[in-house]
Formats: sequence, structure tokens, C-alpha cells
Amino acid sequence: MGLLILTFFFGAAVGSFVNVLVERSIAGKDWIKGRSKCDHCGKTLAWYDMIPLLSYLFYQGKSRCCHKRLSWRHPLVELLFGTLFVWWLLVGFMFFRLAVTPLLVIQPLFWLITGVVLLIVAVADAYGGVILMPLVKIGVVSVVGYRIILWLFGQYQLVDGGLALLAGLGYAGFLAGLRYLTKGRGMGEGDPYLAFLLGVLVGWPRTLVAALLAFVVGAIVGIILIGLGKKKMGSTIPFGPFMVLGATLALWWGEAIIRFLLG
Ligand SMILES: [Zn+2]
Repeated sequence: MGLLILTFFFGAAVGSFVNVLVERSIAGKDWIKGRSKCDHCGKTLAWYDMIPLLSYLFYQGKSRCCHKRLSWRHPLVELLFGTLFVWWLLVGFMFFRLAVTPLLVIQPLFWLITGVVLLIVAVADAYGGVILMPLVKIGVVSVVGYRIILWLFGQYQLVDGGLALLAGLGYAGFLAGLRYLTKGRGMGEGDPYLAFLLGVLVGWPRTLVAALLAFVVGAIVGIILIGLGKKKMGSTIPFGPFMVLGATLALWWGEAIIRFLLG
């Protein structure tokens, strides 16, 4: 239990760091230079202002210096990263141990890298409406490399790799087509590239589930935001977070969802 809590807060700390990196790169600021400051009054923050989740809860979502409301995005991202790391540890103990020796290290490492890459991409798109292409490239290289290693150890079939490639191209092509038809309003420039990564990652036929869920959940959230008056009809919301969510659900429950849809 102690280990799980420790892992959770380690993940949350990574999430907190990611928040800073993403916000600074979107704002075009230096990554490392400068200490963290209050978003409202610019006062330099103390270490106890920056404890993941706990500072937010303890000061009830307000800054300690000037008592202004803080964005809920930071604790949400910290929570997501903490959960990712705990999931990784739990699944690692139950599942990854079955792998043969070199995969014992490579397999959990791959899934941690994939999880972190996808979460950062989703967060950056949600914050700034940009798909971070360097991370998408890292993701593609890591998926392809991982599959080649699995194949070398007789744990992966080439035909599955071919199908996954086609799934990625199909998903990307579909979004690129939508982008063309809507003259760039329906879909961001980077979305097809993210779609390619996700398609190659989840493979065939799970990519169908991933795309379907992304569109359904994206539409529902869009309608809710318009209903709440947070968005206007015809305005866009970043699609990347929904694509990542759809792919994650497809990885976990893809087969069950396909069986359900086919009756
Ligand atoms: Zn302040």
C-alpha cells in the first residue's frame, strides 16, 4: 500500500512537471530557467505551494499568496499521471512478469513510455490546441521498435504488424479527409499524425472502436460545453484528448466493445 501511494505521488509529481513544461512551451518560454510563479500575482512559489494535488486540496483550489482561484487543470493532470503510474505498477505485477527475460524489462518500459507520451500529447492539445509532433514521432518509433523486438522473440506476428500499419493509415486518412472536406475547421493539422500513432498502437480491428469512441465522446462533451455556454455552436474543441481516450478504452475493452456492437 505504501508503495502504491509513493508511486501515485511520484506519477503526480511527473504530471506537475509536465504541466509546467507544456505551459512554458506553449507560451514560448524557456523550459528550465526561472522558478515557478503565481499565475495571478507573479509571486515566487514556495515548495509547499507545489506539492502535487495536496497543495490544491489544502488551499481549497486557491493560491496561498493572493487567494485567487487556480485552474483545475493542474490537479486533474496530476491525478491522471498518478493513476497512470499506479496502473502501470499494478499491471506490471500481475501481467508483465509472464514475459520472457529481456521482455521483462522492455515490455513495462514500453507501456510506461507510451502512457506518458500519450498523456502529454493529450494535455498539450487540451491546453494549447497543438499536437506535439516530436512526441508523436517518439511514440511511432517506440511502437514500431517494440513490435520488432516482440517479433524477434516470437511474441508477435508480422501479419498483425501489417494490419496495425493499415489501421494507422486508415485512421489518419479518415481524419485527413475530414480536414480536407471541412477546409481545416473540423480537424487540427496534427490530428492525422496522432491518429496514425494510435492506429498502429491499438491495431486492427480495435482502431475502429478507438475512432468511434473518440467521435462519440467528443460530440457529447461538445454538446455539454455548448449547453453550459462555454463554447459557441461551430467553434472547435481539441480532438487529441478524445482520440487518446478512445484508444485507451479500445486497448482495454476493444474486444468486448466489438462483440457488443456486433450483438
Ligand atoms: Zn498570487
